[in-house]
Parts: sequence; C-alpha cells; structure tokens
Amino acid sequence: MIGAGFTGLSAAYELATRGFAVTVLEAEDSVGGLAAAFDVGGEKLDRFYHHWFTSDQDVMNLVAELGLDDRLELNPTNTGVYYANNFFKLSTPWDLLNFTPLSLVDRVRLGLLALRARGVKDWKALEDKTAADWLRELGGENVYRVVWEPLLKGKFGPFANDVSAVWFWNKLKLRGGSRGKGGQERLAYLRGGFVAIAEELARRIISAGGHVELRRQVTQVEQVGQRWSTRLDNGATVESDIVIATTPLPVIADLVRGWAEPAYLDQLERVRYIGNVCLVLELTHALSKTYWLNVNDPKFPFVGVIEHTNFERPETYAGRHIVYLSKYLPVTDALYSLDADAFLGYSLPYLQQMFPKFDRSWILKHHLWKARWSQPVVERHYSRLIPDERGPRRGFYVCSMAQIYPEDRGTNYAIQRGRRLARTIASEYIELKDA
Ligand SMILES: Cc1cc2nc3c(=O)[nH]c(=O)nc-3n(C[C@H](O)[C@H](O)[C@H](O)COP(=O)(O)OP(=O)(O)OC[C@H]3O[C@@H](n4cnc5c(N)ncnc54)[C@H](O)[C@@H]3O)c2cc1C
Repeated sequence: MIGAGFTGLSAAYELATRGFAVTVLEAEDSVGGLAAAFDVGGEKLDRFYHHWFTSDQDVMNLVAELGLDDRLELNPTNTGVYYANNFFKLSTPWDLLNFTPLSLVDRVRLGLLALRARGVKDWKALEDKTAADWLRELGGENVYRVVWEPLLKGKFGPFANDVSAVWFWNKLKLRGGSRGKGGQERLAYLRGGFVAIAEELARRIISAGGHVELRRQVTQVEQVGQRWSTRLDNGATVESDIVIATTPLPVIADLVRGWAEPAYLDQLERVRYIGNVCLVLELTHALSKTYWLNVNDPKFPFVGVIEHTNFERPETYAGRHIVYLSKYLPVTDALYSLDADAFLGYSLPYLQQMFPKFDRSWILKHHLWKARWSQPVVERHYSRLIPDERGPRRGFYVCSMAQIYPEDRGTNYAIQRGRRLARTIASEYIELKDA
C-alpha cells in the first residue's frame, strides 16, 4: 500500500483484518496524509481544518467500528460571509433574507437557487456545464458575482472558470443536507483530531500482522514476473502480489514511468490540481463568534477564515483559540514558497482590517502547512478523465483522491473507496485461491 492517508489506511485495514499480509509505505513521518495533525496545547490538531457532514455515513460507521464514537462531536455551527468590509451571518434561511449585499429579489433568487440545485437528481445532466454558467443560469448575474464567483475563485484560482457544475452541485447538496430541523447547520468533528482514526487504523493493521512503515518514500514500482517490486528512496525493495497506489495521480505516473504506456501516463497526468497553504494561529482571544467565514470580498486573498474553537472548545487546546487562514493557489504562485514568518507578515494587514480589535500580541504561535496536491480541478466531463482503479497490469491498483466523483474529495469518500476496493480485491483473490 503506497500512502498512509485515509485511503491507504482504510484499504490496508480491510485487507489486513481479512488475513492479507499488508505493508503500508508512507513518505512522511506520521500517518494521516492531508488529515495529519500537529500538537497544540497538548492536544492533536489537524494541519488543515476538517469537519464532517451529518451525511458522511462511511466515516461515522468506521468511527463506531473502531470504538471512537465517544469522541465524536456533533455541533451546530455558524457560517458567515465577509463582504465589502462587513460580516453577514449565513447559516439559516432567515440569515439569507437579511443578506443586504443583494437586493431582496436577488436574495429570493439565491434561496431558490439552493432549492433548485438540491432538486437536481441526475448529475450527469450537469457534466457539460461549467459551474459559472450553471450558477448564472439559476440565480442571475448579481447573485453569481457577489456569492459564487468569489468562492469559485477562492477555491480554484486561475482554474475557476473551468470547474464543472457537478462539483458545485455536490457542494450545495452536501451543505444543505447537513442541517437540523430549524435549518441550523450541524457538522461533526472528532476530539483528538481526525488523525485519531488514522492512528487507530494503523494500530489495527499492525495487530493483524501488517506493517505501517513511515519515512519510506516509494520511488518506483516494477513488475518482476507475476509479482511487484516496490523500490524505496533508501534503495530497499518490497516484493508483493498486489500494489495499491493511493498518492496523487501525477506521483503515481512517476512511479510507473519505466513500464506504463504513454497513453496511461497521459491519463495519470491529465487531471490538474491546485495547492493549499494554511496559516494556523494559536491566539489568546477569539477573533469572532463565527466558525466558518467565507471571504467573498475580492480584496482579501483568503478563501476562508475558519475559527476552529468556535466549533471545538478552546479548553481542548489549553484555552488557546485556533484560527486557520486558508488559501488555495497554484504551487507556482510566489506565495506558495513563503515560509511561516513571511506568510504571517503577508496575512497580518488583512487580518487587522477584517478584525480591527485583533492585536498581534494575541498570537502565541503560528504554523504554516502546505499541500501541493490539495484538490483536483473537477472540470466538465470529469468522468472521462478518471483512470480506472484497476491499473494496466494485473495486481496494480490506483485508489486516489482524484477518482472521487461525482462527490468531491473528503475523508468520508477516502474511507468508502479504500474499503470498497480492498473488499473487491479480497474477494477476487480468495476466489482465485479456491479455484
Ligand atoms: C485545506 C483542506 C481542507 C479539507 N477539509 C476537509 C474536511 O473538512 N473534511 C474532509 O473529510 N476532508 C477534508 N479535506 C480532504 C481530506 O483531507 C482528503 O480528502 C483526504 O485526507 C485524502 O486522503 P487520501 O488518503 O486519499 O490522500 P492523502 O491524504 O493525500 O494521502 C496520500 C499519502 O501518500 C503519501 N505519499 C505521497 N507520495 C508518496 C510516495 N512516493 N511514497 C510513499 N508515500 C507517499 C502522502 O505523504 C500521504 O500521506 C481537506 C483537505 C484540505 C487540503
């Protein structure tokens, strides 16, 4: 198994507990991949902000199966929008009616748009449309400019106009579906961070006789007779009947370049990705009462300000208030290369303008996390770009974030797809053995 993110660990857990001899090879020095964590005030905190929707059933099932359900927290959250130097609440239908950057007619259009979007049952009918065209069609130009365009640009930067309507439809459906009876949004978090699941999966793999090896970067995968030989950066090799690669697709292309056909390599390299930088601040004071603040003001370079401790209590982190400032960007952007101090320096004036009471002395610590392959760009007709889970040669499989569709990347789907592929492989190999 290449990669100890949620996909790799879920698949390895499923195989190891079914009696397969599994070795997980992970380049980093910890498990969890994009959902890995670091220490804040004696507690683990996700490097990149994470939550689940109440509909994320695969993750809920796994949490229960691993006996971690006492850590699961389901809280009402509040969402806001920052626009034209003002804050607006945008959690309930009532908030929507009070969203003054739009005229009353446009507010009604916005409300109807959400309903109409959720009414779409056949996502295939949207594959031909860009999100920009579809959103304009449903809500008109003003609603698009004020509400949706900043979000699309914030999330996909220069690729914003290429994003498929299917991607946006899915977001609207998920967010709308994670609400209680009063229209209040409810989201889930795991005390101790999402990494607690990854660590428990790793423990279970090991106790079933498997191995989870950290700081093992895979550099090449080759077929030797009927078997596979996986080469590591320290020169060692691991031999196996099956290889499952769970890294981003372009990384997989590099691993198989020695033998894969050009058309297959082209397919692995076709999907574009955008990077993410996340500045995490440990503060003495809260910035606001909002958990999730969408930044719709084009003058501000962040897609969101996520005040984690308006969801999970600050006491969990020794009283510290935790804020994530998130920016999606191509990794060629100069900002991507800044170090933590430089990125903080860049961010402070914006933060100060947004939250005039904020003072630099509130910052106890700051951290910067970067993800090169943070989000695949889900374009029109994305279904045609996705490589098959079965690789071009027997025993080689690909189970990667970019194959998740029509849903979007997320730990729930990483678990779902990882476990499903492992079950398929297990049943095929058991049949083969019995034959
Ligand atoms: C900013 C941000 C916010 C997010 N918010 C949410 C959220 O709220 N809720 C949610 O559910 N999801 C969220 N996600 C998405 C979620 O983190 C991912 O979908 C999920 O963790 C992907 O898991 P994965 O195992 O498929 O991939 P990854 O986590 O990318 O795992 C791949 C692993 O492969 C390893 N690897 C790479 N190359 C090699 C190599 N050559 N050799 C060995 N190992 C290698 C990597 O180090 C990594 O550990 C968010 C992601 C980001 C970036």
